[in-house]
Amino acid sequence: MNWIDRLARPPALSHQEWRDFFASLNDENKNELKQKAIGARRDHYGTDVYMRGLIEFTNYCKRNCSYCGIQRSNQEVQRYRLSEDDILSCCDQGYWLGYRTFVLQGGEDPFFTEERIVRLVERIKKTYPDCAVTLSVGEWPKSSYQAFFHAGADRYLLRHEAASDKLYRSLHNGESNANRLQALWDLKEVGFQIGAGFMVGAPGQTLDDLIEDLIFLQKLQPHMVGIGPFLPQSDTTLADAEPGTLEWTCLLLSIIRLILPEVLLPATTALGSLDPKGREQGLLAGANVVMPNLSPTNVRDLYALYDGKICTGDEAAHCRQCIEKRIASTGFRVNMTRGDHPTRRSIHAN
Ligand code: SAH
Repeated sequence: MNWIDRLARPPALSHQEWRDFFASLNDENKNELKQKAIGARRDHYGTDVYMRGLIEFTNYCKRNCSYCGIQRSNQEVQRYRLSEDDILSCCDQGYWLGYRTFVLQGGEDPFFTEERIVRLVERIKKTYPDCAVTLSVGEWPKSSYQAFFHAGADRYLLRHEAASDKLYRSLHNGESNANRLQALWDLKEVGFQIGAGFMVGAPGQTLDDLIEDLIFLQKLQPHMVGIGPFLPQSDTTLADAEPGTLEWTCLLLSIIRLILPEVLLPATTALGSLDPKGREQGLLAGANVVMPNLSPTNVRDLYALYDGKICTGDEAAHCRQCIEKRIASTGFRVNMTRGDHPTRRSIHAN
C-alpha cells in the first residue's frame, strides 16, 4: 500500500511514519493526494460547500499572542465592540441572505462576561431557532463552556494553534499549550461540535511541529478544523516574518481531509487574503466550508489579525454573491443549511 492510501486507514501514522510520508512526496504523488482528498470530500459531501456567517463582534483582547494584530499590547489598533443589538442585526441581515449558521468570533474581551455571552446566545437562538450558533471566543473555565452550551450554542472553534509545546510557547510569551489543548477536550465533553486548527507557516514552525499537529488532530477527532497561512501584521513583532504558503496550506488541507474524511474544513479568509484564488484552491484541495463576513463594514478593517485582509469594504450581501460565484466557478454548489457534522445531523432538522 502506498503512503497516501495508508493515511486514510488505521492505525494512525507514528511520528516517524509521518516523516517518511513527507519525505516521499513529489509532484506526481502530491497530485494523487489532492485527487484522493477531493474523492473523500465527494464521498461524504458531494459538491456541497457550507456557508457560515461570521460576525467579528469585538477586537478587545486580554491576550498577547505574538502573531495576532489585536493582541493586548498593540496600541495602534482602534478598538471596537458591537452592542448586543448590533450583533442581532448582523444575524438578521445574515438570516435574510440565507445563512443558517452564525459564527461569533472575538478577542478575549472582559466586557463580554459569561452572563453576557449566555444572554447573547439565548437571544440569537430564540430569534432564529433554526440556526446554529458557533462561538469562537477563546479560553474559559469549563463551567462557562457548560453555560454557553446550555444557552444553546452548538459549536465552538478554538484553534489549538500548536500541538508542540515548544512552538506554542515561542508564539505565546512562554505560556504552555496545556490549557488550550485541555479546553478542546472539555468542549467536546460538554457536547459541542468542536473545531481545532493552526496556522501554516507560523514563525519558527518546523515539519516536526506540523506532524505533531496532525497527530493531535487524529487523536482529538474534531468535527471542524480551521487552518490558514500565517500572515504578518505590521504592528506586531512578527511584522517582517515570512508568510505561510498557498502550497503548504493546500497540501495540509488535503492531508486533513484524508485523515478526517468527514471533517468540516473551511477555505479560510487568510487563504483568500494570501492569494486572489486562495479559497478556490482550498476547495480544490479538499475544503468544504467558507465563512463570509457579516460584520458591519465600518469595523471590518479593525478586526485586523493580519495585513491584507480581503473584503473589508464589502457589504454582507456582496460577499454572499461574490463567494457564491467563486464556489460555482470552481465546480461546487452552495449549501445554505446548518451544515452539521454528519454524526450530529440526526438531532437537527437539516
Ligand atoms: N480569540 C479567539 C479567536 C482568535 S482569532 C481564540 O482565541 O480562539 C482566530 C484565529 O486567527 C486564531 O486562532 C489564529 O490561528 C488566527 N490568526 C491570528 N493571527 C493571525 C495571523 N497573523 N495570520 C494568520 N492567522 C492568524
